Amino acid sequence: DLVLSFETSCDETSVAVIENGEKILSNIVATQIKSHQRFGGVVPEVASRHHIEQITGCIEDALSEANVSYDDLTSVAVTYGPGLVGALLIGVTAAKVVAWAHHLPLVPVNHLAGHIYGARLVEPIEFPAMALVVSGGHTELVYMPEEGKFEIIGETRDDAAGEAYDKIGRVLGINYPAGKTVDEMAHRGKDTFHFPRAMDHDDNFDFSFSGLKSAFINTVHHADQVHETLNKNDLAASFQQAVIDVLADKTVRALHDYPVKQLILGGGVAANKGLRARLTDELEKFKNTSLELVPLSLCGDNAAMIGAAGEMLYRHGVRGDATLNANPGLEFEWIKVKHEITSV
Ligand code: ATP
Ligand code: MG
Ligand code: FE
Repeated sequence: DLVLSFETSCDETSVAVIENGEKILSNIVATQIKSHQRFGGVVPEVASRHHIEQITGCIEDALSEANVSYDDLTSVAVTYGPGLVGALLIGVTAAKVVAWAHHLPLVPVNHLAGHIYGARLVEPIEFPAMALVVSGGHTELVYMPEEGKFEIIGETRDDAAGEAYDKIGRVLGINYPAGKTVDEMAHRGKDTFHFPRAMDHDDNFDFSFSGLKSAFINTVHHADQVHETLNKNDLAASFQQAVIDVLADKTVRALHDYPVKQLILGGGVAANKGLRARLTDELEKFKNTSLELVPLSLCGDNAAMIGAAGEMLYRHGVRGDATLNANPGLEFEWIKVKHEITSV
């Protein structure tokens, strides 16, 4: 099976060709970061315009790099949410056109399922499984009792982990997106500020990062007022340690309540070196659970992960038709979607 997959939910235009849901034949990613940096974040209208300019070239490159033609394809998969509506619509429209013109089944994919299925490009997912999805817009613990079933058992009550990284990064004078640079600085510093670990001891699997973000910003502003210079690496290390402590503690607690065969770490923040190391340590205590880290190259947004999730959905009979729309606030509800969406 060959799937041509599309991802345009945010600021990456990406098209991939995936074989049997597990092998990347091509994964073209056109990033727009440079265009958004001067605004300090993604500007939706700018993102849509970039997607329109890039998408056709990405399709051509994905097919030629994979050395396949439209006739070789089995299905077309596309992210239809969550994300920016105008951005999503470009991918959804392009995917519909290709599916319609070449008589191929269209498979709508949830972006977060894509972040989880990035792991499938390394190894088959074994169920039951748990995923910690940490990205620019989401921080969720997702329990997967069986293939195709996604239950959110915990999520952020306010900011997402990546969002917090980007906001405190701005205070440190780092360009958007700040996660990678803060991660690098953290490794050169020490946790000297002891920022709060919100909800760490609460009896649930939810997260909160806005208090941490505020504590960080207040510390920096206060130092500015009294003309005190703080060590930026220590600030980064203290912030990162607080994020990692909460993410790791809650995940470990979830693994005690939900014994699983695999823990998958996915999403843009899954590229964080400190988080990867900490979870690797913690998982040594779970003899029956293996840790599946989405490869660094597939943590950020890309169409390969959408193709991996799309192939799974395709096998389960999930189809979209010409009425498929972008759904910016999409939640995990494919089992329902499956019955509502009919074949092309
Ligand atoms: P979502 O997936 O929730 O829709 P998104 O697609 O915008 O949001 P991703 O592209 O998955 O988010 O991830 C981007 C985020 O990952 C940014 O906030 C970025 O700062 C963060 N990030 C990237 N690398 C690292 C890192 N090494 N450490 C921490 N954060 C990182
Ligand atoms: Mg992105
Ligand atoms: Fe994402």
